[in-house]
Amino acid sequence: MPKSRPESRAVMTMYDEPMWDSIGERRWALQCCSRCSTFRYPPAPNCPECLSLDSEWKALCGDGTILSWVIFHREYLPEYKPPYNVVAVQLAEGPIVVSNLIGNEPQGSWIDQKVKITYAADQAGHLLPKMQLG
Ligand SMILES: [Zn+2]
Repeated sequence: MPKSRPESRAVMTMYDEPMWDSIGERRWALQCCSRCSTFRYPPAPNCPECLSLDSEWKALCGDGTILSWVIFHREYLPEYKPPYNVVAVQLAEGPIVVSNLIGNEPQGSWIDQKVKITYAADQAGHLLPKMQLG
């Protein structure tokens, strides 16, 4: 059974915990402003658009678009054996997240490729949201 969140509680705040709980349930949710409906990432106490303190957690639809990507050929962390890719994805709800593309790789440019959220355990056993071509 994959772990559902990073074990280091030092980086976990009250704003992160609901997000990691939703990822553990394979239904990634982000805060959505109750006043102006702006989704926010990373989790935070107030809305960056209207400064409201009110929000609710809403599951993402799962759609996104690759904005940028890179393939690392050098090992920086022992848990991430090269080569591996990193993608910056703009979610349909607006926030930009960083993840990895798993499965088939695009033919030609990766930029503007449509992706969908999926879930997979990383090399350290943590269940993380990943992207696959959609
Ligand atoms: Zn707002």
